[in-house]
Amino acid sequence: MIPFLDLKQINMRHEEEITQSFTNFLHSGWYILGKQVEDFEKQFAEYCGTKYCIGLANGLDALSLIIRAYGIGEGDEIIVPSNTYIASILAISANGSIPILVEPDLLSYNIDPKAIEEKITSRTKAIMVVHLYGQACNMDPINELAEKYNLKVFEDCAQAHGAIYKGKRVGNLGNAAAFSFYPGKNLGALGDGGAITLNDEEIYMQLKALRNYGSHRKYENLYKGVNSRLDELHAAVLKVKLKYLDDDNQVRRNIAVYYSQNIINPAVTLPLVEQADGLSHVWHLYVIRTNDRERLQTHLTNKGIQTLIHYPIPPHKQQAYREWNDEKYPISEKIHNQVLSLPISPVMTLEDAAKVTEAINEY
Ligand SMILES: *Cc1c(COP(=O)(O)O)cnc(C)c1O
Repeated sequence: MIPFLDLKQINMRHEEEITQSFTNFLHSGWYILGKQVEDFEKQFAEYCGTKYCIGLANGLDALSLIIRAYGIGEGDEIIVPSNTYIASILAISANGSIPILVEPDLLSYNIDPKAIEEKITSRTKAIMVVHLYGQACNMDPINELAEKYNLKVFEDCAQAHGAIYKGKRVGNLGNAAAFSFYPGKNLGALGDGGAITLNDEEIYMQLKALRNYGSHRKYENLYKGVNSRLDELHAAVLKVKLKYLDDDNQVRRNIAVYYSQNIINPAVTLPLVEQADGLSHVWHLYVIRTNDRERLQTHLTNKGIQTLIHYPIPPHKQQAYREWNDEKYPISEKIHNQVLSLPISPVMTLEDAAKVTEAINEY
């Protein structure tokens, strides 16, 4: 049996270090916003190349608080890709803003910069990019548009911890960026967690208060804030796992290269990766496309290979967004109908990748 992702095995590699870090945390007697979170924030900001990092309870809150901190709300429009995980879009709705869906590029699956400009109106305030499946978006044309129309650029980095665009890490490619540390992400906690990275000091100070009831000093409240703090417990684990993130991403890359060089089946479209210096895909997911997805998935299941679909229903077809159900986003719909994610993880071996490849080639 080749599992899609073996979380237990991923974490047990660091059992000793995680246990030690957890013991230190337990014995400290300080369980909310202490040394663990402070250390992790510092290390993660350094890793991403930003001045600041703020630990939060999850990725959705990170996205939503960024929008709020920039003063974007009721009636404002934010551009977002039409094929993303629903959280990117929910964060916009949560602030009373209007998500404006833009189709992706069929080759990279990321937002198509050429399709953005026609969707910009006088109410547009920001572009939210999503570095989907672990590959950074084509940021230069997006940042140029943002400059031309005076828009903010927010990054959803929930699937791309460590990915690089022109020598810079994601998280440092726009005005502010959101990360998720949900257990299955490339950098995963033992529960929910998230963070924001950014360089603007004023917004940073505001976000630090917003996550903590809008308060900088106990019982003094500057804003109508929320409780969305990264737990010390998770920060203690994330500090350990961050040290191995680049190595883990390299293992994912090796698996991806193996698949890309060895899967040869005319019924299957492989992911196309932009190849250039200073770009690096971190392969949160290895996503193929095929016309008869159900048949291929059943064939792989019968061979003991677990696959998943990211994602089966596009956001504009969700019940939650009934108002969009009749709109047409043909590229997104095609992607959602055809995609299948193969097993990939830092604990997967090339022998397993070879078994997956063989099963696909004989299909
Ligand atoms: C996982 C994910 C999120 C949400 O993160 P949570 O921590 O689960 O709230 C947001 N955007 C994308 C693209 C994701 O994959």
